[in-house]
Formats: sequence, C-alpha cells, structure tokens
Amino acid sequence: MKISNAIIDWKAKSPHSNQYEDIYFNPEEGIEESLYTFLETNMIGGLFSKIRQQNIIIAETGFGTGLNFLLTASLWLQNSPQKSKLKYISVEKFPLSSSDLQKALEQWPEFKELSQAILKQYPLPQAGFHTFKINHSNIELLLMFGDAAESYSRLNAKVDAWYLDGFAPSKNPDMWSPALFREMARLSKPDTTFSTFTAAGIVKRGLRDVGFDVRKQKGFGRKREMLVGTFVENKAPKAIDKPWFELPASKKPEEVMIVGGGLSGCSTARALAERGVKVTLIEQENQLATGGSGNPQGALYAKLPVKQTTQGELHLSGFLYSVNMLKRIDPEESFWSQCGVMQLATSDKELARQNNLIEQETYPQELVSLKSAEELSEIANTAVNFDGLFFPSAGWVSPRALCDHFVDHPNISVVQQQVEELSFAEGHWRLATQSGEFLSASHLIICNAEMANQFSQTDHLPLKTIRGQVSITQAKPTNNKLNSVVCGDGYISPAQNQQYCFGATYDLQGKERNITQEDHESNLEKLGKVLPDIHADLASESNDLQGRTAFRCSTPDYMPIVGPAPVQDEFIETFAQLRKDRKWRFENAEAEHHPNLYVNTGHGSKGLITCPISAELLASMICDEPLPLPKDVIDAINPARFIIKKLIKQTI
Ligand code: SAM
Repeated sequence: MKISNAIIDWKAKSPHSNQYEDIYFNPEEGIEESLYTFLETNMIGGLFSKIRQQNIIIAETGFGTGLNFLLTASLWLQNSPQKSKLKYISVEKFPLSSSDLQKALEQWPEFKELSQAILKQYPLPQAGFHTFKINHSNIELLLMFGDAAESYSRLNAKVDAWYLDGFAPSKNPDMWSPALFREMARLSKPDTTFSTFTAAGIVKRGLRDVGFDVRKQKGFGRKREMLVGTFVENKAPKAIDKPWFELPASKKPEEVMIVGGGLSGCSTARALAERGVKVTLIEQENQLATGGSGNPQGALYAKLPVKQTTQGELHLSGFLYSVNMLKRIDPEESFWSQCGVMQLATSDKELARQNNLIEQETYPQELVSLKSAEELSEIANTAVNFDGLFFPSAGWVSPRALCDHFVDHPNISVVQQQVEELSFAEGHWRLATQSGEFLSASHLIICNAEMANQFSQTDHLPLKTIRGQVSITQAKPTNNKLNSVVCGDGYISPAQNQQYCFGATYDLQGKERNITQEDHESNLEKLGKVLPDIHADLASESNDLQGRTAFRCSTPDYMPIVGPAPVQDEFIETFAQLRKDRKWRFENAEAEHHPNLYVNTGHGSKGLITCPISAELLASMICDEPLPLPKDVIDAINPARFIIKKLIKQTI
C-alpha cells in the first residue's frame, strides 16, 4: 500500500482534513474534549494506578496530530508507575507531513518535550510498522501506517484500552467496519475497555456483535451521547491459519542466558536488560563481536526491492528502527555516521531496476532518490563512475562499538565460556561448558551465528557461512576525502580514525581464515570500478593493505531465524498431514517448542539493520508485550519454517 500524507487545510491553528472534510480536534477545547472522551471515560488514570508492575497497552484508531498520545503519555509520566511501561499503538492511513505535525504540536507548549521526541523520530510516509522509544525507553510508540482494519489484522498484542478516534462514521464509514471490530475482539482480553466520541448505531451494534458490552454515556460539552464499554468474550474467534507459527505463551522472566556475543546476542541482551531482566551473555572468545560483527565499519542501509516483499519490509522496518535507535543512543555520532549511502548501478540491468523502483514510487523521496554520476560525485566529494540510488538517512556503523554500547548496562554480565551442551530440567536450562562449569537460568537464547545448530535441540536449523575479507588501509591527507558510503559490487565507507575499510569478498565455499592477496586484489578491483581517484591512491600502496576475514551466517532463504525453538520430531508428527495436503486445515493442532528456548541467528551481512529490530521482537515475545513487527514478517523469520517447508516438499 502506498501512503500519502494528509491534505490539511489550516483554519487558524486548527487542522481540517481535506480527505474527510472533518476536523482533527475541537478547535476551542481540544485538550478538554480528548481528555474527557478518551482518557476519563476509559478510566486511564485508574488503569495507571491499578497496574503498577505491568506494561499498559493502549491502542487507537487514527493517530492524526498525536494529541491523544500526548495526553496519555503526559498523564502516564505524572503517575510514573515504577516498573511499568506505556505502550501506545496507533494507526494512520494519511499521516500528517512532518511540517504539518510540527505546526499542530506547536500549539501545545505544555507537551514540548514529548512533541520534540515524536518529531525527531516521526516516520517517513512508508506503509508498515514503525516502533520508537521515548523518555529512556519507558514509553514506546508503535505507529502503523496503513488502513486501520488491515494494520490491526497484522498486529500481535493484548490491549488494555481502545481509543476509537477516526473521523465521524458519517464522513468515514469505511473505517468503522466489521473487519476492524473483529480485529479489536481478537486483540482484547476480558476487561479491556474502549471509548469513542460517536454514538452511531453501526459502531454500537458492530462492537456488541464481536463481544463488547457497549454503554451510552453523556458526550463532551453539548454532545448528547458517546459510547464506552468493556470486552467480555470473543464471539467470533478467528480460525488459526498457520498453527505451526503460533507462539508459545510467555511471562517476563527474571533471568535469561544468551549464547553468543555478536550483534545479535548483544542487541538481544540490551533489549531484555532494558525490560528489567538480568542477562548473562556467554561468549567463547575473550572479546565481543569477533565473528561477522567484528569489522571496523559496516554499511547501514537496506537494499530495497522494486515491489514491497516480506523481506523488503523486514529490511526497511529494521533500517528505520536502527537509524532512530542510533540517533537516540549516540547523537554525537561517535560510533556511527549518518553520512548517506549510494548504491551504484554498475550494470544496465541494475540501472533499469533502479529506474523502475523510483518510477513505481514504492518509497518516499526523502528515503531514496536516483542521482546521476555527477551529482553523486559532488555528494561523495570524489569522482563516482556510475549513476545510482542515494539514501541520505543511511550511513555506516562500527558494529563492535555498538556491541560494547549494548552490553554496557547494569543488568548485563558478560561471561567467557564455551558452551558445549544444553539440557532442560526442573524449569531450568543447564549449560555445560568446556571448562567443566555449569550455568543455568529459566530462559535461553541461542545467538551464536553458524554455531547455533551445534546443539541437539537446534541441529535442524539450516545455516551456512559465506566467507568475506575486507581490506583496511591508512587514509592519507591526499585521499581522505570520501564523504559517504559507496556500494557498488563491494562497498567502502568514509575513513574512520584515518583508516579506510573496503570490500568485501563473497565466497560461499571458502572456509579458510587467512588473509589472501588475491582477495585484496578483488576488493581493489571492485573499488577501481566505482571510485577511480580513491582507487588510484589506495592501489599504489596495495602492499600495505591489512585485512580481516569473517564468516557471515546465512540461511537458505536469506532471512534471519528469530523466534522460539521448535521440537522437530513433534512438529513432524503433528503436521505430518502437510506431506499429503499442503492446504490441510488442522483442528486443535498445537506447535510444540522447547520450553523457554529461543533462537536469533542467520543475519548474513545485514545484521546492522536486522539485529536491533529482531532483538526488540524477541524481548517483546519473551516478556509478553505487543510485537513490533507484522505477523507475516514474524512468520517469515520463524525458526519452524524450514521443517514446514520440508514437510510440504516431502523431504522429511
Ligand atoms: N487521534 C487524533 C489526534 O489525537 O489528533 C485525531 C484523529 S483524527 C479525528 C482521525 C484520524 O483517523 C485522521 O488522521 C485520519 O487520517 C485517520 N483515519 C481515518 N480513516 C482511517 C483508516 N481507515 N485507517 C487508519 N486511519 C484512518
């Protein structure tokens, strides 16, 4: 779905929607009306004081100017429940442009801090899920850009209270649909409340039909009536489509062990630590990020498909999430740089693809645009040989420094041990280490790249390695001029600490760790093809090249593996019928997983964009929070997918 910004008519300080011919909020008493209609009648203040230890999950239809969010977040901050978080989920079909949003938010100076936090991270008009954090991560906003019913159908969450905003049913009948009400029922639990400014019959009947107890109440000011209510039971439960991807129930644990100290393990440790979970991170080497995450610099950008795909959605969501995260944790850009990335069209085929991508307008212009070689040369500050795409918000990151940042948290302790075997007994995972010691905790996450299938519980995971060598050389005053990351057949980043890092080779067979001159030559050749001046300078000193070899851990479908670890034999037995009929509808079939065992691996060379969002996903799964990615994307990275594919193909 392509997202267009809202077309706003400004009537003095009050935004009016051209698409719906309706107002966003009451121009005289906007705050009072929203407070009354959504927060007071829904008893949100009471909810905050009642649920002191849990997360509070509020979901809204129609984010608009974010006024309801501001009111809720500011009330939550006043109550400041110690150990809980506010999770605010909203959906928007026509997001305000950043400038319209800024104009709207300026009229409420009392919310200045919150408003600025939103504006800093406000997503580009791109369909899908956008998660970002505010106020030391205690407030999380999940903004879904798209249609309400469709977006909520992709969500996995249990909501405490609904704000049914969205323009009046008479002006916007499509939104107030049975499909939306069904999704609301699926996402509600007994005692979930709702409130809405309208008392329209289709809303009252629609919500009753799906299991809400609906009551009328006096509306704000001169408005006669509005609706409030409570969820009782789901009258129209939806059949489970793919039972093999159902996630096991989970409750926030006290302690978690993580095996593997690369980007995947470190980001997962941080996501859990921020939720108050104690994490033991176990790494066999004497420092973090020694494998695929250990290069001095990595390009932070997403190679986007012409038409949106599940993989493209993961990469784009992950990229946008990583950029916002980096802006928040390292605003001075000490271990990353938002210097822009160019993806050069080094063949006619790639140029045609890039032209197509721009013509189809799948992505906002602020995210990516096509530029000529001259324009790119100007941006890069050195001659660039090809036309290509430019991503101004992309850049490079030092993965090792990012890992160090992730583990720098009082809830994380790093232990150097080589894990040999896993066993589960009496509610605990027990890890036997090479030194003969044992470690134990209720929950375990396996994040050790291609070694993730060394354990009997996970030996079915199809992981492969792709060898890559980067070349590293000193930048001199004569050549230290590159201003942005350049990706052609290889990539190079601007010099960091007076060093250029470029490469990398891509070798599906190679297993050797040594640095080879042949690989240096190959890296130089790729560099020469795109950046002639920089190449001329660096090639003259090719004997001084240093290098680093690492193994990217990848999977057959090039998607990472993130989620609960299935018990392979049980899966084969439960879903055996798929061998005969891939469309078989299973009644009451339950997927069996190893208790509290999760996997996060297979990020290939895209860990900078897929690890932070995957870490959020896993931590949310484990702590029973709303999931930050759409269901179809989560299914596409589910560790059980390979067993199911094999059953369908009858190869297992
Ligand atoms: N809650 C908002 C606030 O606090 O400013 C005001 C919301 S405004 C009255 C209604 C919003 O619903 C508009 O921004 C509109 O674009 C959005 N909307 C309308 N139909 C929608 C749909 N089908 N899916 C998602 N959003 C929709």
